[in-house]
Amino acid sequence: MPSDAVKVRGVGPRDGFQNEPEMIRTPDKVRLVEMLARTGVRRLEVTSFVRADVIPQLADAEKVLASAEIPDDVAVSALVPNQKGLERALAQRGRFSEVNLFLSASETHNRENVNRSVEESLQGIERTVARAREVGLRCEGVISVSFGCPYEGEVKPSRVFSIAERLRDAGCEEIAFGDTTGMANPAQVKEFFSAADDRAPGAELTAHFHNTRGQGLANVLAALEAGVRSLESSFGGLGGCPVPRGATGNIATEDLVSMLHEMGYETGIDLERLLDCAREAQRVLGRPPGSHVLTAGPVNWRR
Ligand code: ZN
Repeated sequence: MPSDAVKVRGVGPRDGFQNEPEMIRTPDKVRLVEMLARTGVRRLEVTSFVRADVIPQLADAEKVLASAEIPDDVAVSALVPNQKGLERALAQRGRFSEVNLFLSASETHNRENVNRSVEESLQGIERTVARAREVGLRCEGVISVSFGCPYEGEVKPSRVFSIAERLRDAGCEEIAFGDTTGMANPAQVKEFFSAADDRAPGAELTAHFHNTRGQGLANVLAALEAGVRSLESSFGGLGGCPVPRGATGNIATEDLVSMLHEMGYETGIDLERLLDCAREAQRVLGRPPGSHVLTAGPVNWRR
């Protein structure tokens, strides 16, 4: 892959939808997923197999995965919280090729989110990854609050890297570092990713930024400068984290793709088609999404 190519994983149907207070109808989700899948995006996180009573919004995971028509060249992933979630997902085997498994870098955030210690989560992930790899699935480990925790404050990179090493050793081919509540700053991000290759060699390293405090794209630039070529974002800037309440907003894929293209990076994504998806999300959700490029139009709009 040339160094000017950047992989973008759209996480809107999972990270985005799961945080929506109003239930989104399954056919609307399927339509939005299908539209996204035809933008040229190469990676798409479609849903989550978290228990329906925990995240009712994604209780239709099976239906969405089974119904959405997605081109073969799009790598489809689903979030699985544990082995039980994985077994549920496996009933849709053939509809996805990757799973992502998550934990938090801080004890308090992990406890608040999944009521387990970090060590308990790691051991669960190790068992789940072993099972997922047995059936040929690629595994992505996601470390939430990698750049700061709303409960504990500073999170030491050494702690994040030691979790990343455990995930890699468990068999995760990709590790995503989440700025779940938008606490990262660009200097911190650049220093972090400049050291990350040495600390977790052999795994693809992905940056997952939220725009909670408006620093999402600045953090993307810092990550790019440190060599990161894999990013996650959400169309319309949907998304957030259920814990704590109010921590909303992934970076918007439209804004990300616009910036990357203007800078000469290649993503494979057709920005106009992506904007159509964001407009459709706006219609379905009944409110304007948090995307600047949707509001202002692409840079070449006079054309
Ligand atoms: Zn997120």
